[in-house]
This record gives sequence, structure tokens and C-alpha cells, in this order.
Amino acid sequence: MYQTSSPLDKGSRGEERGLEATHGSSGGVIPMAELAGDVFGAATPRGLGGLGGAEEGPLDAIHVFWIAGMSCDGCSVAVTGATSPSVEELLAGTIPGIPKVVLHHPVLSVSAGHGFMKPFAQAVEGTLGAPYVVVLEGSVPDDQRFEEVGYFSGLGVGADWPDSMDSPRVPDQPLRVTDWIKAMAPEAAAMVAIGTCATWGGVPAAAGNITGSMGLMDFLGKDYRSALGVPVVNIPGCSPVGDNFTETVAAVLMFLQGIGPLPEFDELGRPAWLFGETVHRHCVRAGYYEEGVFAEEFGDPECLVEVGCWGPVVQCNITERGAINHMGGCMVAGGPCIGCTMPGFPDKFSPFYKTPPGSALSGAMARTYGAHIRRLRRISMGHRNREPLWDRTGEIPSGFAREKKRPTLLAKVEGLFYERLQYHGTVHQGRRNERQPVPESRNVLDDGGASRSLEES
Ligand code: SF4
Ligand code: SF4
Repeated sequence: MYQTSSPLDKGSRGEERGLEATHGSSGGVIPMAELAGDVFGAATPRGLGGLGGAEEGPLDAIHVFWIAGMSCDGCSVAVTGATSPSVEELLAGTIPGIPKVVLHHPVLSVSAGHGFMKPFAQAVEGTLGAPYVVVLEGSVPDDQRFEEVGYFSGLGVGADWPDSMDSPRVPDQPLRVTDWIKAMAPEAAAMVAIGTCATWGGVPAAAGNITGSMGLMDFLGKDYRSALGVPVVNIPGCSPVGDNFTETVAAVLMFLQGIGPLPEFDELGRPAWLFGETVHRHCVRAGYYEEGVFAEEFGDPECLVEVGCWGPVVQCNITERGAINHMGGCMVAGGPCIGCTMPGFPDKFSPFYKTPPGSALSGAMARTYGAHIRRLRRISMGHRNREPLWDRTGEIPSGFAREKKRPTLLAKVEGLFYERLQYHGTVHQGRRNERQPVPESRNVLDDGGASRSLEES
């Protein structure tokens, strides 16, 4: 967890800006929420330019500038599928207490061309009239090294740059995405990296790529803090779970309004409540691993570790959250985890679909003890698949169970020992039944049912 000093401690951005620790009539410091990390620390001031609500009251709107670097647009697709909350709810401002999000998105926005780019220039100039957050999708290419010409990822042209500033490009030539990131980052309320390309570099930063791509926090440097004193917030995944993004945005906005607890982030800027567990711990196939049963080929229902799953060492919540609307997700759909949320992805997880070396040891151990556990469980399960009444009468009155064998001697002995342990030191309620009359099963067809009763009467 991020447990170092608050970003607004002495010498940090907040103090440089002369932000006060108290504000307004209440004059109170925001109380530290129980699980809060120090990123949004208790020393963080209230007020516009601070956290915990605007000086003039809660914010009505906040601008979100979505910028795409070295990207496939998969993060945009993933976020449009979010449901808790949905993008529509954030844009419409229908979540009580949360300010309306004004989204500037190169694919989703209705406006285009110079009209679309104008708010970007206003943000850089400081004339937007509301706080803004920058969201980066895709990695950051190392194209600032091209001083005059050349770029790997562009947004707008030189004519879109603020009139009051020297443009890095002539009017009809593309501006680099990195030009906008450099210009907008200092005054942004927060810089959010979505997807593994923006967080850690991802596929465009893989071995052999010539673009020198990197994650947003690598580009902005370790000393970077936003206007609110916040380091880069990272929401990884390739593509990420859309709800991870919208939920984090909603959590931060609720805190900005002073109505939510302080969000906790880990030492790499990930929302701690979303990325604190491994895939394996919540995997739908984890029971197979424990019993030492492994898939041999794709399509098998068992644990996928031997066909290349890295879930035991990967931090990701798709197994709990699902891909969209709590549905799907890698292991649910039959795919092994290839570590797409991790800083080492993809190079440190390749070649994909080869058994991870670490699983040779843990898999062999699971096979050894899992085989015994599995057999004992089957016996135990067989016993619990029978009503107590069936045990007393020795009969199962089911048409489907006519051929079913009675418990084996081994199962009976196991059941006896199991019961002794189960009820040791407590009351064995089932014993009471032995003093009750055995309920009679009616063979209604032989009895003739209701029709015979009528005839007889
Ligand atoms: S499929 Fe992967 S995450 Fe799931 S139980 Fe197997 S090793 Fe763990
Ligand atoms: S389970 Fe693995 S491959 Fe799937 S989304 Fe999570 S980290 Fe990526």
C-alpha cells in the first residue's frame, strides 16, 4: 500500500500552491477514512484545487479529456460496456451527488475537427472554467525526441494550439499526443492511465518495438503530482474491466464532493480494492487446482495452469467482476490468464500457452495431495447426497435411482468416522429421528390414486 508521506506534505505540489488545510465555514480538515491510503491523505485540503468539495459548494461538472496514444481503442470499447456505474450515468449526472462528467472523447464525442479541439486549448490556457481530468488510453511514444518533425501518435493540428502560446507545430501539421500530455498534465486535477499500454507500456512497449513506448507515469516522471497533489492513477488491463474504470472515477468524484470515503491506491497507483487479490484466489476453476485436476487441452473444464495460466501470481479482479455486467471473463470463457494487468506484460509472460515454470512444483504437489482429498470428498459427497430417511429405510424412492447401489462398506465406515468427528462436542440432531416412526412412502399408482378412492366411496 502507498504508505509514504502525503503528496501534500511539506514541499509537495499542494504546499507550493499555497492551499489551505481548512476551508469555508466548517473550517474542518477532511477526516481520514479508515482504509484510505496516503495518496488522498487527511492533510489534503478542501476546496476547488483541493479535495473534498469545491469552495463554492459541490462541483456541478468536471471535464474529462480522453486522449489516445499508442492504442487499439480496446479500452474505449471496454468502458462503454461498464454497468456499475455506466458511462451514460456519469455523463447524464444521474448519480446522486456526483458532478456531471463532460467527456471529450475522440471517438464518442459528437463534435469533430477544430470544434472538438477547442476545449483542449482552453484547458491548457486555464479558461475552461471547471476542473479537468485527463484519461490516457494507449502508451506514450518517445516522440518528443523528434524536435521539429515526426510523431508516432497525433491529436489535432498546430492551428488547434492555444493562440496565447507558441505552437509546437505549424498550423496544418499534426500535434503530437505527447505535446498535449505535457501541456495538460500540470493543471489537471488528476491524470488517469487506463489499460496496460497507458499504465505500464503494454504491447507497444514490448521487445522489438521501435517507438520507445512507455506508460504515462514513466513519461511524466516519478516527481509528477497533479494540481491536486495526486500521482498518476493506474487502471491496468488489456483490455481493462470497464467497471474498474467507471467505479474508480465515481469513487474519486464522490470524494471530491465530500460525500465518499478516501479511495485507497496501492504503491503502483492501482485502486487497492480492485487489484489487491490474485486471479487464482477467486477463479471459478480454483477448486480443480486444489484437487490436482488440470486441463490437458483448451475446452477442458478443469484448471488451466498446465496450458499456460499465470493466475496464481497475477493481480486482477476479472474473476469476481466478470468482463461486462458481471458476465464472462478469461477463465469463465476458457482462457488462461496471460498476465495482461501486470507491469511485466507481455514480455515477462511469454511465450503464452506454455506451462509457467513455477506451476511445475505447485502443480505436482497439488496432484499428490489433491488425489487423496478428491477421493475422500467423493465419499463424503455421496453420503450427503442421500436423505437421512433413505439411510433408515435402505430405499431411495426415485424412479431414476432404481439401479443406484447402496453405500459401499468403505463409504459406511468413512461415514461413521466422519460423523463422530462432525458431532464431537455438539448435539447430533439426526439421532432424534431414530425415535420417530419411519414416514411411510405411498405407492400411489398401485393404490389407484384418487380415482379408486372415489369408486370405493
Ligand atoms: S485456471 Fe488459472 S487462475 Fe484458475 S485455478 Fe487454474 S491456475 Fe488458478
Ligand atoms: S485474468 Fe489475466 S489475462 Fe484475464 S484480464 Fe485478468 S490479468 Fe488479463
